[in-house]
Amino acid sequence: MIHHERLKPPSHDYPADEWNVVEKAFHPEFLAQSETMLALGNGYLGMRGCPEEGGPNVENTTLINGFYETRPIVYGEEAYGFAKTGQTILGVTDSKTVKLFVDDEPFWLPNANLLSYDRRLNMKSGTLDREVLWETPAGKQVLITSRRLVSFANRHVAAISYRVTLLNATASVVISSETAANEPSAHTEANDPRQTRVFAERALNHRAGYAKDRRIVLCHETEKSRLTLTCATDHSLETSCAHACKIACTEDFGQVAFTIDARPGCPIDLTKYIVYHTSQTASAEELCGRAEWTMDRVMSQGFQQLLASQEQYMDDFWRRSDVRVRDIREERTKRSTVEIQQAIRFNLFHILQASARAEDAGVPAKGLTGQAYEGHYFWDTEIYVLPFLTYTSPRIAKNLLTFRHKMLPQARARAKLLGHRGAMFPWRTISGEEASAYYAAGTAQYHINADIMYALRKYVQATGDEPFLHDYGAEMLVETARLWLDLGFYSAAKGGKFCINSVTGPDEYNTVVNNNAYTNLMARENLRYAAQTVEAVRATNPEAYDALVRKTALEPSEVEGWTRAAESMYVPYDEKLNIIPQDDSFLDREPWDFRNTPREHYPLLLFYHPLNIYRKQVIKQADVVLAMFLLGNSFSVEAKKRNFEFYDPLTTGDSSLSSCVEAIIAAQVGDTEKAIEYGMAALLMDLADVGGNVKDGCHIASMGGTWMMLTYGLGGMRDDDGVLSFSPRRAPEDNAILRFPLTYRGQMLEVEIGLQKVEYTLREGESLVIRHETEEIRLTRETPMAVRLVSRS
Ligand code: BGC
Repeated sequence: MIHHERLKPPSHDYPADEWNVVEKAFHPEFLAQSETMLALGNGYLGMRGCPEEGGPNVENTTLINGFYETRPIVYGEEAYGFAKTGQTILGVTDSKTVKLFVDDEPFWLPNANLLSYDRRLNMKSGTLDREVLWETPAGKQVLITSRRLVSFANRHVAAISYRVTLLNATASVVISSETAANEPSAHTEANDPRQTRVFAERALNHRAGYAKDRRIVLCHETEKSRLTLTCATDHSLETSCAHACKIACTEDFGQVAFTIDARPGCPIDLTKYIVYHTSQTASAEELCGRAEWTMDRVMSQGFQQLLASQEQYMDDFWRRSDVRVRDIREERTKRSTVEIQQAIRFNLFHILQASARAEDAGVPAKGLTGQAYEGHYFWDTEIYVLPFLTYTSPRIAKNLLTFRHKMLPQARARAKLLGHRGAMFPWRTISGEEASAYYAAGTAQYHINADIMYALRKYVQATGDEPFLHDYGAEMLVETARLWLDLGFYSAAKGGKFCINSVTGPDEYNTVVNNNAYTNLMARENLRYAAQTVEAVRATNPEAYDALVRKTALEPSEVEGWTRAAESMYVPYDEKLNIIPQDDSFLDREPWDFRNTPREHYPLLLFYHPLNIYRKQVIKQADVVLAMFLLGNSFSVEAKKRNFEFYDPLTTGDSSLSSCVEAIIAAQVGDTEKAIEYGMAALLMDLADVGGNVKDGCHIASMGGTWMMLTYGLGGMRDDDGVLSFSPRRAPEDNAILRFPLTYRGQMLEVEIGLQKVEYTLREGESLVIRHETEEIRLTRETPMAVRLVSRS
């Protein structure tokens, strides 16, 4: 069900545009939303889309992925094994402010007389561009043009090009470029567990700081997590107007102020170069040195070069990733083709911004667009974001899986603490330690182990990266399989079947349950894949096998145990309803009283005590339905239909991770209306603020889900039996044309689903075998294209 209708920005001020998200007027009421939507990032460094002047703002933060502070988690009542240390991403030294004064009057958006205004997230060039014409109270017209970028090619670098031109008068102009640490950052609303924590004290301690020429360098360190950060800014000013420069630097603040005698028609061009370096080990001096090297290099290249490499990176990204639509029937979707195209690109662009340079880090639930969920990494990465990356940017997918592998020591320690064998990946974390303070909807989500292994399997199948599987994947598989074997047991009460009790599935409104179907099904996959991989490594790669045995003390007999558990896995089934119950007790619960739940009481988690929710038949997000998507080949269309029809009315969609999955299954079972309804909700989750909390950051998982919706849902793509196949289904009245590229085994395939035919084109590579329905198709360089009629349902 979809409950929300939000205040929508007026469409003439936010017009449809295929490549840009445009703001044609300054709307203070959408300030927080636009900070999120127009945020820039590269997976390492993120900047919210605040105006150049630094304000007005709701959350003027700059974030660095994985740069966090710790705090003790305080429980009213302690218990053994509770996570002890909270981790919270911090707003770091902010460097994006450039203030402007004309004849000593500040340029301040809320009270400026704006003759024109255009601000746009430019998804083709990867920049945030603004052009404003301001008339001062004295009638002087000032044209301000700026361009901000967070570089993909140089992950430590951001830059702002800021041009001021007086059009009709002379004026004395001051441009003040500022850098500030320990500014008050996110504010949070009481009672919303999804938001971040705020540190009362100053979070960053000064370690070093100096100014030289037009360069400011500030170095700070966190108190407890002991992470060090250097932020350097430097400036170049080009103008034929007379000017002077003053520089000031204190522990937490740096300022480079240019005073200029502006002449009409004579542009003043300021470029602000920004560099961040962070480290767990380097000294303040060393880190300042690194920032200076980077700065020297970037300044010698100049802004145009940075922009050129940004555009090239974006071109490359879109070539591999762009999903294009044509001829959408607006009466069905209520959105034009251009609007839908814009939303698709907006989602894909933000995934890139959240992940591209996340090296040695994960993807936070909100990317780097906001601090909600404390900058933590969840299963969102593996189940929702990795499929897109695996099929478009496999290098990034590999980095993220490698990061999980690096977490193994902490995951092993966590398993041990909880009395388990193997490894237990944290439900939410930055450092690799479990950081979830609420075990029922946190630690109990053991399924994250299987989710990571599911993403690994998809990655290996799509890339053929056997070396990664043998050298890194296998070790994770052994440890996760061990955990399942240890966690579950052969239950006499369930006819000797392998049962897994007291876990929480994806649906956080039913916690600590026995035999959550999603968990059991995914654990079964995990166990099978572990057994199959260990056998394959043993048979084909003795060296890797020896290393695996050394790293994990693997006993040959263990593998048999995994296979047996997998084959005996208990999967609940209700003969009367002919559905898979979500868990052993789900069907015994009293139905939730949806009729008497006011619309404004969603999400339920903000209005009802957890116990009221847990004892009722009500679902936060797709659970069985998600399993039916992820393991699609194991279920018939009829089974999917029965389960979808049963669960859909009970599913609130209170998590943004739900709509995209519901849309996919609705499309697969032929419920076009629901597919469109859910599909549009997922697609517009952030652009139309469907969940009402865009101000806190983009919903990166849902964004990944929209890609899955287009490819797996509408495109009928399947890969869960190891072969890439397609069986596109479209409603007879549908005209839309969908085209998307996929990188598969180092080659690039393009799929176009049209009215009468599907075209498969090998864009890059030698030869590729795929399947259309049940038929094998070989694409080669010579015959790069195959055409088949779409089978209509
Ligand atoms: C969802 C989780 C998700 C988390 C972060 C929660 O509301 O229930 O499934 O991992 O948000 O996105």
